[in-house]
Amino acid sequence: MTEKDPTATKAVEREEPQAAKAMELLFERSVPGRGCDLVPPPDVPAVDFGEELLRKRPPRLPELSEVDLSRHYSKLARHAHGVNDGPYPLGSCTMKYNPSVNERVAALPGFADLHPLQPLSSVQGALAVLHELETLLTRICGMDRATFQPAAGAQGEYTGLLLIRACLAARGQAGRTKVIVPDSAHGTNPASATMAGFAVVSVGSTAEGGVKLDELRAALGPDTAALMLTNPNTLGLFDPNIVEICRLVHDAGAFCYYDGANLNAIMGQVRPGDMGFDCMHVNLHKTFSTPHGGGGPGSGPVLCKEFLAEFLPGPVVREQTAQDGSVRLGLATPAKSVGRVRSFYGNFLTCVRALTYLKRLGAEGVCEASAQAVLNANYLAKRLSAAFDLPFGQRCMHEFVMSLAPLKERTGVTAMDVAKRLLDFGIHPPTMYFPLIVHEALMVEPTETEDKKSLDHVADVLLDIAREAQEPGGRLHEAPFGCFVGRPDEVTAARHPLLRHEASPSRPEKTRA
Ligand SMILES: *Cc1c(COP(=O)(O)O)cnc(C)c1O
Repeated sequence: MTEKDPTATKAVEREEPQAAKAMELLFERSVPGRGCDLVPPPDVPAVDFGEELLRKRPPRLPELSEVDLSRHYSKLARHAHGVNDGPYPLGSCTMKYNPSVNERVAALPGFADLHPLQPLSSVQGALAVLHELETLLTRICGMDRATFQPAAGAQGEYTGLLLIRACLAARGQAGRTKVIVPDSAHGTNPASATMAGFAVVSVGSTAEGGVKLDELRAALGPDTAALMLTNPNTLGLFDPNIVEICRLVHDAGAFCYYDGANLNAIMGQVRPGDMGFDCMHVNLHKTFSTPHGGGGPGSGPVLCKEFLAEFLPGPVVREQTAQDGSVRLGLATPAKSVGRVRSFYGNFLTCVRALTYLKRLGAEGVCEASAQAVLNANYLAKRLSAAFDLPFGQRCMHEFVMSLAPLKERTGVTAMDVAKRLLDFGIHPPTMYFPLIVHEALMVEPTETEDKKSLDHVADVLLDIAREAQEPGGRLHEAPFGCFVGRPDEVTAARHPLLRHEASPSRPEKTRA
């Protein structure tokens, strides 16, 4: 490889991947009697629970000093890759940089130390956060009302479909039991529809990546409850027939649900409400720069048009006029609410982070961010088209999908091999083998976070890997060479996860002194 590969020469010399050495668990590092006082002494009187409620033996927790702990977690962090470590072009996931000002604001004691059962008069500021975020998001999306309860995109989809189901029931149309989902959809769409009690009907995609209108027309009927759609879809393509699609669905008496988990191509440019959608969710942890995955917690607010608002989960924040005419913020439960989908008001501090992000960007910044995200994706797609097959062309929105099927045919190198090799260069792999309708798919979403130098680095590395794939010897099947863990058995890890440490029987348990 070229000098751009920091690990290749080392890796070749080393020959053996270093993956085999497992990292010690905290339980294995434990030394009896060691400790660090992380729990402060109580500042309230001790309560005597009585012998029968006390455990007979102390819990088997690892006994460690602060430096043991600190080194353990630093080592874990070095073995992982996060948005702060390098490019993270994980398609559909929008792994953009999370500005640290978001964390500063969310950590303010006036937000962080609130109790959800405090009197409303003492939390007007917190209610104002939810109220203003509702105003901004509904304006960006062309919707009227919102709930912040759902803790993830998938839970948002489920909640949105519950609104639709409740509305249909209220109109005496409970016989509408089918939800139409395009074959390019995110896997959560059919899953949420099933969870919400609907049957899923799949419609195909055209060669250009849009919804097949004739299949949609054939699928629509008196039993259709809704269409669920992402636009731009998971191929990174904006469906030019979207207004017609929503019209067909409405003409059939059904609803249009928009999967807005990833709004990064269109925020500030075009609004799902204007396309014709009735209800949607957005993922604050994608488009609105709040932490993802292990760094969560997430938030998947549901937004809807006014006619669905009476079914929203409660409580929602509403302006209330007191007898003296003053306006305060209060909580209300919508008249025909589907009930709670989560405790209290959702992940509140995540809402604080998203509002901070939006207010810092301003209206202009929101438009610029999406424009830059689309430009970045197109630049990368254009550069990569020199060596990779882009089955839907080089023009895209915020992400694009490459097919490595031709490369595999020529060289035997798979999308998995290329993704694994990227790890050696400090680049997180793109989404692999999704969408399902593209063979050997790599789905790339650089986001607006990356500058040209970073995009060129990603392109150079991928083009180098494509050249490396032509070399005889099949070395790429062994990649990565410089990672702590290279190719774990993902099926076993998913089917039989070991989430508990089995205490070794050789260590006697201490009894309470
Ligand atoms: C991420 C994503 C989802 C699911 O969101 P979660 O927060 O992971 O549940 C749904 N649809 C699309 C298009 C997505 O990208």
